[in-house]
This record gives sequence, C-alpha cells and structure tokens, in this order.
Amino acid sequence: MASSPGSIRVLFIYPNLMLQTMLPSSMTVLSAVLKSRGHSVDVFDTTFYATEEHSSNEYRVQRLQMRPFDTGAQRKLLRSVESMVQDLRSKIEAFQPHLIAVSALEDTFLLGAQLLDAVRDYAIPHLVGGIYPTFAPDLVISHPSVDMICIGEGEGALVDLCETLATGKDTSTISNLWVKKRAGEIRKNPIRPALNLDELPLPDYSLFPEQRMYFPMGGRLLRIGAVETHRGCPYRCTFCNSPGTYDLYGDAAAGNFFRLKSVESVHRELRYLIDEKKVEYIRFPADTFLAMPNAYFYDFAEMYKQVRLPFWCQTRPETLTQERVNILSEIGCADISIGIEHGNEDFRRDIVGRNYSNELLLDRVGNVRDASFKLRVNNIIGLPRETRRLTADTIAINRKIQSLVECANAFHFAPYRGTKLRDLALRLGYIKEDTVVEHNTKDTVLDMPQYPREHINGAIRTFNMYLRFPESYFPKIAVAEKFDKEGNRMFEALRQEFSERYYGGVSGANDLEHAASV
Ligand code: SF4
Repeated sequence: MASSPGSIRVLFIYPNLMLQTMLPSSMTVLSAVLKSRGHSVDVFDTTFYATEEHSSNEYRVQRLQMRPFDTGAQRKLLRSVESMVQDLRSKIEAFQPHLIAVSALEDTFLLGAQLLDAVRDYAIPHLVGGIYPTFAPDLVISHPSVDMICIGEGEGALVDLCETLATGKDTSTISNLWVKKRAGEIRKNPIRPALNLDELPLPDYSLFPEQRMYFPMGGRLLRIGAVETHRGCPYRCTFCNSPGTYDLYGDAAAGNFFRLKSVESVHRELRYLIDEKKVEYIRFPADTFLAMPNAYFYDFAEMYKQVRLPFWCQTRPETLTQERVNILSEIGCADISIGIEHGNEDFRRDIVGRNYSNELLLDRVGNVRDASFKLRVNNIIGLPRETRRLTADTIAINRKIQSLVECANAFHFAPYRGTKLRDLALRLGYIKEDTVVEHNTKDTVLDMPQYPREHINGAIRTFNMYLRFPESYFPKIAVAEKFDKEGNRMFEALRQEFSERYYGGVSGANDLEHAASV
C-alpha cells in the first residue's frame, strides 16, 4: 500500500472483552488526531471474537441486573477465537503498518500481549497505551513483545512518535513514552502538559464497522454516539484510578487533569453525530458528568435544548440537586447512572473514600422522583474488610430507593492498579503482588477470610432479588445464595419468578445457569 512521504500507517489493536460493544471513544479521537496529520489508521478489534463463554452483559442478565435483550444478532457475528491470530496477521499483511499500538486496560492487557506475541516476527514496533501501562509501567514494559509504553494521554505522544518514525529519527525522547533501548535499558520520558480538549478534531467513527455503533439500553439495541465533555474527576474514591491520574499530572507539574471541553466544541460534535452518523442516542462518558461548574452546566443545558436527543451520563449521588435534576429532565436526559457503591456510612467513608451521609444520599436520589430519566445505580460487593453483614447495609439502602431505580448493579470489587484499595488489599494479604484483575462482572480476585469468595458471589447473584422481592422472601433468597444443589435450584426458581414479575416473563436469551458458580 502506497503512502505519502512522511505518512505513517498505525494499526491499533483493541483487545476488548467479548461483545462489549460500547465504542471506545478514546480510540476514535486518537485515530482522528493521527489522520488530521496525514497518517493512516486501521484497527483490529477483538470484540466479536468468542474469547469467553459469556459476555459481561449476559452475566448481568443472568443476575437480573439488566433487562434481558436478544443477543442472538450479536452472537451471530462472533468469530471463533482460533481464527483471531490469523485474522490479525492477514490485516497486518494487507495494511503493512509501521507501528502497532495496543490500548490496554488491566483486564484486557493479557489478550493484547498474546496478540503482540503472535505478530512479533513482523519486527514492527509495538506500543502499549491506556490505563494499565499508566499504572503498571514496569510490568507492561517488561513484557518481551512490548517496545514502548505510553503513560497518560496518548494524543500528543502518538503524533510525535509517528512524525519521528517518518523521519527516521530517535524515538526514545518523546514525552509520555517509556522506550526500550537495548536489553535492560529503558528510557523514561516525562509527562507532557494535559492537552486542551478544544484542540481535538471530530472523532473518527469510520475506524469501526457499523455494528459497533449499537449498544443495548433498556432492552433495545440503540445507535449510540459518545461525546467527551470533560476529562478527569475532582473526587478521590479509593477504588478508582481517576485520582491516580490527577495526581500523576499534578506531581509532574503537567497541569490540572480535570478539564472541560467548551460547550461550542461539544455542540459541534453533537451535530456531527446527529447529522452525519445518524445516532439516536448520546452517551456522555465523563467520569462524573455533573462535576461541572454551574455556569458551564447552564450553558450546556441551553445548547442541548436545540439537540434534544435522549442521552446517558454518569455522576455522583450528591450532585443530583433538585435544580440540576429538573434541568436534565427539561433537556431530554434519558438515563443516569450513579454509584451508591456501599450502604454503610462509616465503611463508605473509611474504605471507599466517599464522605456523605445516607440521609443526603436518599435526599438526592429522592430528587429524581419526577424526573424524565431512568436511574441506574452501581454498587460494589467484596471490598477489602467487607463482610456479608456490611453487604446487608448495601442491600438495605438499595431497597429504600428501588422504586426510583430502573436497574441496580452489584459488581465485584476489582483491585485495579493505581488505586488506594489495591494497596490496602495487598497489605491485608487479600491479593498477591502479581494479581491481575479480570473483568469485574465475573468473579472476585480477593481471598478474604472474613468474606469467602462463594459468599460474595452468592450475594451478587441474589442482589436484585433482595431488592425487589418482599421481605418474606428473604429466607428463600438466603438459600439461593448458596452454590449447592438446593441453592442452585432455589436460585433458578426465584429467577423465573423475578423475570415474570418484573421483566414481563422474559428470563434472558442465554442459559447461563450457575454461571457464577465457584
Ligand atoms: S469513582 Fe467516579 S467520582 Fe469517584 S474518583 Fe472515580 S470517577 Fe471520580
């Protein structure tokens, strides 16, 4: 394939979890930035390879945390995992990239590394970027098939790397990159300043095939576009690596990682998605959408009145003031996710790093009573030092608000690198230094004497039963928490009843019976 002088061909590898079809907006931005400089970009995406038995959403359906939807159409697109390496090699031979770049989270790095191993013989430079190398740089750079890693934001580093590759100059001095030089020698460059979000071009949706535009929401597959309004988060939750990124930039004097994109730029992107990409639903992926100042929020709301497409965002409970809820309703907000995380005030403050009372939480959630949008809530079970007794407090607070909630999730605690709670879990001996998180809908990686793995899994699979069934069902649900014969039979019977009562008789398209068994 011919290229103009100075043009570099970059192949992204996106080692995604199976059928996690939410489009990675960060990659559409990286692609747009590179193309705006005259480079060519292609992607190898593992989303539609059968890398696992069940997808995250299928696990959630099984645990009654998600309204069942028909996965048949998506499953028909799955290719066998055996063909994955050959498909990647064919893509490399057709595209002839000068650089292969992997975007990796902790739970996808292993797959990305396996793919890099399988194409090492092409002798193309390999770069790994994303959250995982940002917080586990030594581990990722030590992998034999990794030549460089990117720490923090990738846009500027990728452009500089491509331009340096195009001129044949030394690539080892580019800010944000760690580069392997000779055996044992790694050049660690400083972090560059956080970029100005208004300088980014429109995202490049042509990178992915059409089917990647769709995602299940409320039992339907919707054509969805994502718009970044801000990057970073000003809060300090201990299970999350956003505070780590904030500190990384602060410590490096590289600016405030928490930044807003101007309302004008947001509007420009929205118009593009609606007019050109024909989306029917907008997703605002900001970590904490309502962490925006009032002046920005009012401007945003005025602008969005012209757009009026249903949208989703995620925020913290205490940001749901009555005024903001009313305005969000007026402008067509359809879905909001919030993190309850834990129901015990002391535990939430001391372990989770969220210092607000249950009274405030209930007050804020109560504000959505007449809202236009559906509320989805997230909880975490199996946090360090947690016990089954403490989980009862999470169940109790969720029961108090369940009439206002469309969908309640209970995720396994995942000790991601770069979080304070990983350090605590290590100190307490619940995990090992080399423990790697798998995706947090599947199982816990913690080994806690006071809260055994099967008890955590039992609490998670019955969580929504505790929330929705009358209290008189609690003894039967307690039986369904157990993964023995009687418990599994009870779980199945209650799952059928739950589906009939609350999901109109649809019990889920896939038989994942006992998927949570340990
Ligand atoms: S969990 Fe949410 S609110 Fe807390 S630090 Fe992370 S992004 Fe911010």
